[in-house]
Amino acid sequence: MDSDITSYVINSIEHAMQKTLNKSTGTRLRTWHVSDFVSPCMRKVRFSRLYPEEFDQKKRAVLFAGVVIHEHTKLSHFNEMTMCYDIENDRSLTPQTVATLPRDDTLGIITGTLDDLIRVNDDFVIVDKKTFSGKGFKKTEPNEEHVKQLDIYRVLLRESYGIDAKYGCIVYLDKSNDLDMTVLPFELTDVGTTKKFMRDILAQLNSPLMPKATITWLCNMKNREKKCYCPFLTQCEREGRTTDIPPV
Ligand code: SF4
Repeated sequence: MDSDITSYVINSIEHAMQKTLNKSTGTRLRTWHVSDFVSPCMRKVRFSRLYPEEFDQKKRAVLFAGVVIHEHTKLSHFNEMTMCYDIENDRSLTPQTVATLPRDDTLGIITGTLDDLIRVNDDFVIVDKKTFSGKGFKKTEPNEEHVKQLDIYRVLLRESYGIDAKYGCIVYLDKSNDLDMTVLPFELTDVGTTKKFMRDILAQLNSPLMPKATITWLCNMKNREKKCYCPFLTQCEREGRTTDIPPV
């Protein structure tokens, strides 16, 4: 009986988590996504297209926790805004239009969903919440990829809604310390510079050549557990992964 009860409860909770995730993420548009553009390694992005990852219960639980936190910490009416931008033609498109396009017509399009847009004094600020496990470590500055992510949202927001947000803010919530909060505001990069960055990354992503391996914290195993955070290490080594490790 005990094992029947346990199985019933586990299955029910997993089902409820999956239902919440389905409702929250909906159908993912078949375009590039902002997360692709801010990845420290373009080769990893290529592999994630070639070998889509399976969702195990651990990943589902991590995503679920993120969805619940985001769902209940909305900072303004302007939250969870999904925007699409055609990088090659420098114009915005609605997600509804993009959903109807054939795959070949979406190769120059990027989609992003910003968490919150707030107004402080006379300025708009793009805010993004990140959960992480600090285990005693306190963030003092935002990660480079998180800054880039908000720079790209600035472009998408301006092109989609004509709103220019000069500031960004990352809110780090430490899951290992009762969601201890670190709020880090900063000035965003100018739109022209970010558009150029996006064109350069798009060229790499659409190139038939395998992007070069960029070894960073994702796979240099220089962490407490000596863990590789890239799930494509085997495929990468098969393609000739350089052992030249740059400073982190
Ligand atoms: S193992 Fe490292 S270099 Fe290779 S794809 Fe993954 S992140 Fe990139």
